[in-house]
Amino acid sequence: MPQPPSPLVDTFGRPLGSLRLSVTDRCNMRCRYCMPEADYVWLPRASILTFEEMARIVGVFTDLGVTKVRLTGGEPLLRHDLPTLVELLAQNRALRDLAMTTNGLLLEREAEALRRAGLQRITVSLDSLRPDRTLAFARTPRHADILRGIAAAQAAGFRPLKLNTVVIRGYNDDEIVALMEFARAEGAELRYIEYMDVGGATGWSAEQVVSQREILARLAEQYGPITPLPAPGPVQAPAERFALPDGTRFGIIASTTQPFCRTCDRSRLTADGTWYLCLYAAEGIDLRDPLRSGASDEELRELIRSTWAQRTDRGAEARLAAPDRGALYQIDSLRADPRREMHTRGG
Ligand code: SAM
Repeated sequence: MPQPPSPLVDTFGRPLGSLRLSVTDRCNMRCRYCMPEADYVWLPRASILTFEEMARIVGVFTDLGVTKVRLTGGEPLLRHDLPTLVELLAQNRALRDLAMTTNGLLLEREAEALRRAGLQRITVSLDSLRPDRTLAFARTPRHADILRGIAAAQAAGFRPLKLNTVVIRGYNDDEIVALMEFARAEGAELRYIEYMDVGGATGWSAEQVVSQREILARLAEQYGPITPLPAPGPVQAPAERFALPDGTRFGIIASTTQPFCRTCDRSRLTADGTWYLCLYAAEGIDLRDPLRSGASDEELRELIRSTWAQRTDRGAEARLAAPDRGALYQIDSLRADPRREMHTRGG
């Protein structure tokens, strides 16, 4: 009997499992931890992949074992007609999980169409319950639109909805409990994210990081003992999951103080078709050029296969070991290569 092909793994035995697909580098918010500068260098328009190009590349990735795709950005809903891309991707039978992370500003008008097109899961970023803070910190007066987006996603059947909160000392760390209460009332699962020193976070400092340990301590003070939940499988999700004494589940993404590089199965594709093997990687692999110059699927598979087989990246662990840890990049270096920005390669 023919044996099934052995899964593609990197030098540490990590499979090629999930792909973050950044559909645009544009964003309609200016969060201080991600896009704090006054202006940015954008990817040239002609370099942005069409939906058909994206669906083809995703097909090559799923041939090699990818089963999960998350649409991200920039703000993915700024990409015109996103449900059409979702519809194309949903036809790919090898995809078991098709998800999106959004800031929610445009979600109210898109939630239904995304659901109908075949999107399975949505995560909405919500860092504060206070409109004044959102205005000051993310430079948008439209906090109410985020809440309407959350309601629309629920109504469209995206349940359980996930909420992402980057916790930053001196900004929103006094809302750790309030955000949990909000999520619980919504029936949503909250994931606290440690502030990461990624590209874009030019104002990062260690003092502003609220660690997983501290988040758990604050929650335990309010609610009582917190129970860690077992990981669902051998590949660790970015979030470690926990439960409050009443069973409410939540997650913490502790990439800054407890990196999960050892089990990281994810890679990232920018909107211009540059493939990154790690969120922290300085350089990516150009897939757009071979794609547009007529490479066959087999040639693209071989490029991806041979690159992944040599992968050694453990970016977050390297950052943890770095002495005098500060912002990863200064603004000049980000201007020279905008693909190093978090908003270009996606969170
Ligand atoms: N615009 C969408 C959104 O707001 O969710 C998708 C892109 S955004 C880059 C994806 C995620 O990355 C968001 O949850 C955001 O909070 C997170 N993020 C951005 N910069 C971060 C940083 N410096 N540390 C931790 N998380 C960060």
